[in-house]
Amino acid sequence: MKQLETTSLVLLHHHLKALRLPTITAACEKLARQAAADNCDHLTYLLQLTELELLERERKAAERRLKAARFPTHKTLEGFDFSARPSVNKLLLSELARCDYLDRRENVLFVGNPGTGKTHLAIALGMAACARGYRVRFFRLSELATLLIEARDQRSLLGLKARLAKLDLLIIDELGYVPASKIGAELLFDVISGAYERSSLMVTTNLPFESWTEVLGSERLTGATLDRLTHRCQIIETKGESYRLRDAKAKLHKGDGTAASGGQTEPDQRPLEGGETSN
Ligand code: ADP
Ligand code: MG
Repeated sequence: MKQLETTSLVLLHHHLKALRLPTITAACEKLARQAAADNCDHLTYLLQLTELELLERERKAAERRLKAARFPTHKTLEGFDFSARPSVNKLLLSELARCDYLDRRENVLFVGNPGTGKTHLAIALGMAACARGYRVRFFRLSELATLLIEARDQRSLLGLKARLAKLDLLIIDELGYVPASKIGAELLFDVISGAYERSSLMVTTNLPFESWTEVLGSERLTGATLDRLTHRCQIIETKGESYRLRDAKAKLHKGDGTAASGGQTEPDQRPLEGGETSN
């Protein structure tokens, strides 16, 4: 077969660069040698090259989405021990990981005591959504409230809200640890209302609904927030004792020479008082 001259090869690289095809640029010569050895026709070679470029683009886009989501750590459903949390339906979580609820603009709420895996599951579902091409952003409630208040003070609230409106999934973690200020609560409500039926919200909380007023301040605002949030919503309760506590106890028992019970102690849905802090 006729070989491409060096000058033409330089020109080819130049064209590919101008067309923004970095993966093809990097792989075209090696793949051409392989194609010649395998006796592949030109179209098969072109197909291989374009497939490589597309795969690499998708990989990079997924990486960007994951970075933009700002998860505090990375967690997966595979890493979640469902047998330790029988109140959480594994099938439902696997279905949620397929992300159809995002197309239906439905919400997900995780309710349970500290240490019961709410943040773990929210991150795992958020990461699954990123992998499927959805735009996700993770916030702790206090972080989002502060950001909103700062944006309002700097008159950049509209810009921030426009950025939030572009998301497919907004995750608000830890509703309940810090009471939001009056203005913070109103701004949060504004975001939740804005997302209502236009995108999905995922919220984790250690507070039963009747205690949300303590965080959001006014009954009216709490009622309206809950109304929007729980309409078209999967509510997942992570009942039982803290996983960390259970883990620590199991280790302690083993250290004592006693077998770890592995069983659950008294389930308690009320927030632990003065117990462990959030993760
Ligand atoms: P919460 O948000 O409910 O306070 P986290 O999700 O932060 O709890 O869980 C605390 C720690 O325990 C995390 O490191 C989490 O990965 C781990 N964890 C909790 N539940 C499980 C579980 N069922 N299987 C595996 N790890 C778990
Ligand atoms: Mg948490």
